[in-house]
Amino acid sequence: DSAARLPSWARNEGRSRKSMGPATPATGGRSATAKVDSWRVPREKANQRGTPEIDMTRIVGADQELAMILEKDMLERAPGVQWDDIAGLSEAKQLLQENVVLPTYMPDYFQGIRRPVKGVLMFGPPGTGKTMLAKAVATVCGTTFFNISSSTLASKYRGESERMVRCLFEMARAMAPTTIFIDEIDSLCSSRGATGEHEASRRVKTEILVQIDGIHSQDDGERKQVMVLAATNFPWDIDEALRRRLEKRIYIPLPGAHERTELMNINLKDVEVEPGINFDKLSNLTKGYSGDDLTNVCRDAAMNGMRRKIAGKTPDQIRSLSKEDMHEPIQMEDFLQAITRINPSVSKTDIKRHEAWLEEFGSI
Ligand code: ADP
Repeated sequence: DSAARLPSWARNEGRSRKSMGPATPATGGRSATAKVDSWRVPREKANQRGTPEIDMTRIVGADQELAMILEKDMLERAPGVQWDDIAGLSEAKQLLQENVVLPTYMPDYFQGIRRPVKGVLMFGPPGTGKTMLAKAVATVCGTTFFNISSSTLASKYRGESERMVRCLFEMARAMAPTTIFIDEIDSLCSSRGATGEHEASRRVKTEILVQIDGIHSQDDGERKQVMVLAATNFPWDIDEALRRRLEKRIYIPLPGAHERTELMNINLKDVEVEPGINFDKLSNLTKGYSGDDLTNVCRDAAMNGMRRKIAGKTPDQIRSLSKEDMHEPIQMEDFLQAITRINPSVSKTDIKRHEAWLEEFGSI
């Protein structure tokens, strides 16, 4: 009986779904294929949504310490990212909506042949929005969000990683509905060096597999909704056993021309930009840039006015500059300079490798 294995604190009933309320389709609730961007959680609600405190005193011994570390380092109470904060990626959003979000809204419907997938893998070059998508899923599902970086788990908690993984899943079950996001999963579950593999890392890998299987073997009685979302920039490094459990494998590509314009607009929504900026031209000049690269371009462009204003000034003169003195909308030239300063971070070879992997193992 798996429940008996849980520490007492974890045997408490999970949180009630009802208390959080579902996301509201702003369009008035249409079909499941309605554009997911319109599924918004009111901003105040998304930011406030909390998780009931866990009574740490009820966790015994060493596990209490682990649970506290997990709570401090990895539990994000309200990631607050919405679908429409994320530029483009409509297919990925749609797949996540159907495979992850809707099963939390209608658990009774997603049974038997319709059972939700065990886990979802998002793969693609770095800085393309995988983490943002995971956070948006947590926002629209109203789930508690654990954000686990595998490389941190592997290095910082070396030796403890296996227990950490077990404790994490126990906490996730106790606080269900929960989303566990495992970033850089390749660094925990690499298929590399299967022969010379470190004994400890093999054990962590096995523990993750056992825990993912465990989520779905508890279908009898009240189901605990724990969804595993994983991300990697190196999908070819993931071993086969894990790949099989991450049944949906969603490609998160570099942004296209239209998405690059959208991304720049999202990034610039809080700053003043000169009217008439030629975003089509900027989009053409940034072919091959990732979302993260474009954020860096916008940030750099947004600082250029300041560079001009403080040039040649002493620290005292700079301190006395008022808000009005500093006011200057971002100009086309600022963007052009930023683009020359910031190069795309993803190589064409990498993209080819991702596309080949998509072809072989990806989900459409
Ligand atoms: P990944 O997890 O794929 O490495 P992230 O989701 O952490 O990438 O994105 C890194 C940063 O890049 C974000 O904080 C955001 O500023 C920007 N970004 C990347 N992709 C997008 C996108 N599709 N929409 C909006 N911002 C994006």
